[in-house]
Amino acid sequence: MSSELILEETLTKRSQQKKRTSPLNYKERLFVLTKSSLAYYDRKAEKKFRRGLIELSLIRCVEIVRSNGELIPCHNKYPFQVVHDTNILYIFAPNHDSRTIWVQRLKEEIKDNPSVLAKFHPQFWQEGSWLCCRQMEKQAPGCEKYNPYGDITRKPLPPVPGESKDRMQQQRPQSSLPPCPDGEQGGDEGEQEVVTEKKEEVVVALYDFPGAEPHDLRLVKGLEYVILEKCDINWYKARNKYGEEGYIPSNYITEKKLGNLMQFVWYSKHVNRNKAEELLRKEDKEGAFIVRDSSNPETYTISVYAKSLHTGDGGAAIKHYRIKKTQESPPQFYLAEKHLFSSIPELIDYHKHNAAGLVARLRYPVGKSAPSTAGFSYEKWEINPRELTFMKELGSGQFGVVRLGKWRAQHKVAIKAIREGAMFEEDFIEEAKVMMKLSHPKLVQLYGLCSQQRPIYIVTEFMELGCLLNFLRQRCGGFNIGSLLSICLDVSEGMEHLEANGFIHRDLAARNCLVSDTMVVKVSDFGMTRYVLDNMYTSSSSAKFCVKWSPPEVFHFCTFSSMSDVWSYGVVMWEVFTEGQMPFEQQLNHEVVTLVTRGHRLHRPKMAPPFIYDIMQKCWHKKPEERPSFSQICVMIADALEGDLTD
Ligand code: ADP
Repeated sequence: MSSELILEETLTKRSQQKKRTSPLNYKERLFVLTKSSLAYYDRKAEKKFRRGLIELSLIRCVEIVRSNGELIPCHNKYPFQVVHDTNILYIFAPNHDSRTIWVQRLKEEIKDNPSVLAKFHPQFWQEGSWLCCRQMEKQAPGCEKYNPYGDITRKPLPPVPGESKDRMQQQRPQSSLPPCPDGEQGGDEGEQEVVTEKKEEVVVALYDFPGAEPHDLRLVKGLEYVILEKCDINWYKARNKYGEEGYIPSNYITEKKLGNLMQFVWYSKHVNRNKAEELLRKEDKEGAFIVRDSSNPETYTISVYAKSLHTGDGGAAIKHYRIKKTQESPPQFYLAEKHLFSSIPELIDYHKHNAAGLVARLRYPVGKSAPSTAGFSYEKWEINPRELTFMKELGSGQFGVVRLGKWRAQHKVAIKAIREGAMFEEDFIEEAKVMMKLSHPKLVQLYGLCSQQRPIYIVTEFMELGCLLNFLRQRCGGFNIGSLLSICLDVSEGMEHLEANGFIHRDLAARNCLVSDTMVVKVSDFGMTRYVLDNMYTSSSSAKFCVKWSPPEVFHFCTFSSMSDVWSYGVVMWEVFTEGQMPFEQQLNHEVVTLVTRGHRLHRPKMAPPFIYDIMQKCWHKKPEERPSFSQICVMIADALEGDLTD
């Protein structure tokens, strides 16, 4: 009797511990409800592996989760919750009906449980608070009455004159919007769902996107689009003004809103003073300029490049002007007292035509180049090898030769041809689909694979200036503390994204970071050591194992974690501040193991002031849990940069 099957369906489960927004934390599972339990299984090669089981007698509440427009980063968009003991399981159903059936069948089974809740939380627990009531204690009592019999999605519709209740119950409300749970309203009981129409979300394209596949929508920089559905974190479905619909990359648009500077080509949010100078110098044009966040919160700085300035040495000059605000409300903006403007765009427009005290008038906005997309199109990871052309060889590594190439004759890419016998190919191909979703300006983007042929090709973002280690060595002597810190900040930001997604790099080193043409450093090859077939690389006692980047828990016990990545990050900082020296150059691997185990650490590089060496030492704490997280490291490095450079 107790194993009698009630329901069985593949649903999505959100990992209970990790961050909500990562698509990696949403797993497809086969859910099986019987008279005694709710179990979920992983289906691999037609076998079922049980991943979890909840006894029905321990369940305290089952209810839909009302989402108020926040992004659901998985395919299934209809969430419900199962509260058991002190835990909450969030499950996502593929459609409204499936969710209703699950919620109602579960409710039926648990309604007589002694521990059923009187109150529950109708919205998600997310990043430290309840979205419904903003309480910050996960165990805080619920804020809404729990109805063990009804379904809170159901609320009576206002009576329609002349229509019987029965008829109304058969009708689903019509909406011009695609099926989406975002418009749900809470209510206690009743029979009909109310779908309120949400205000349309209008965005502006920041860059052109040609659209790779017929299901994509072409974006034209500056034009407006309406968001129809947030399919996953990287791709949205949108509509243009002609009513055409399709997929667009979510990092190519910005909200259309008064005061959102992102809409302007001249504004670059994440550019510090050092980077701004690099970009302007590279552009090398009189009046090149960039508007960026200043080191003071909520203030902006204009960096301007003047070639013809009488600098004394005949060279060019870069000046940084902070945009000041008056005290009144609403504030006025100005650079020089005489000229007040009611908005920053107006101020910029004025100075496009009048230098008015600036070193040059603002002629050429610099700095916004289109970022990589997570794959060439929505859900496209297989690349047709006939669409690739091969150009020069870029280098070769563990897995094979890397070449510069072009996709569809225009998009520059790096193509890695995997040498036979170098990789656990099947496992990697499976994981690549997940890796493609890791999309961040400081991570080298995986675009896709040619997996139907041998050798398989891995297609990634092309990084013009090659690997960071060579970059440091070739330009040795040409860096200042600011530029070195800026490299460290890039790497820490990429690593922060991996950490937030529960993804461990396992081989972070300067040789595994790459440099773009605009000198942005990005982390590459994340997670790849898991697919190396050569034991000599993966066995910690072998000569090829990267002991010098590894913490004690890795070289002794192979315990990898984001904290072991933090240790390696400390070594990368050391490589950066020595401009590419080899750590523990004089020592053999086994000597390093002995030294590090005894508490010995890399020395302070000459270019690293004590406060920077202090960050490295924090990364090399013997106890992994005492090391800072990458988000803390980002803050420390950004602070150090700010201390080094003032506007
Ligand atoms: P493997 O993973 O097989 O060890 P690597 O990723 O280290 O290979 O690549 C070997 C070399 O090829 C790098 O050191 C770098 O010089 C070059 N390379 C690799 N990927 C890229 C890329 N995306 N853009 C530019 N150069 C690259």
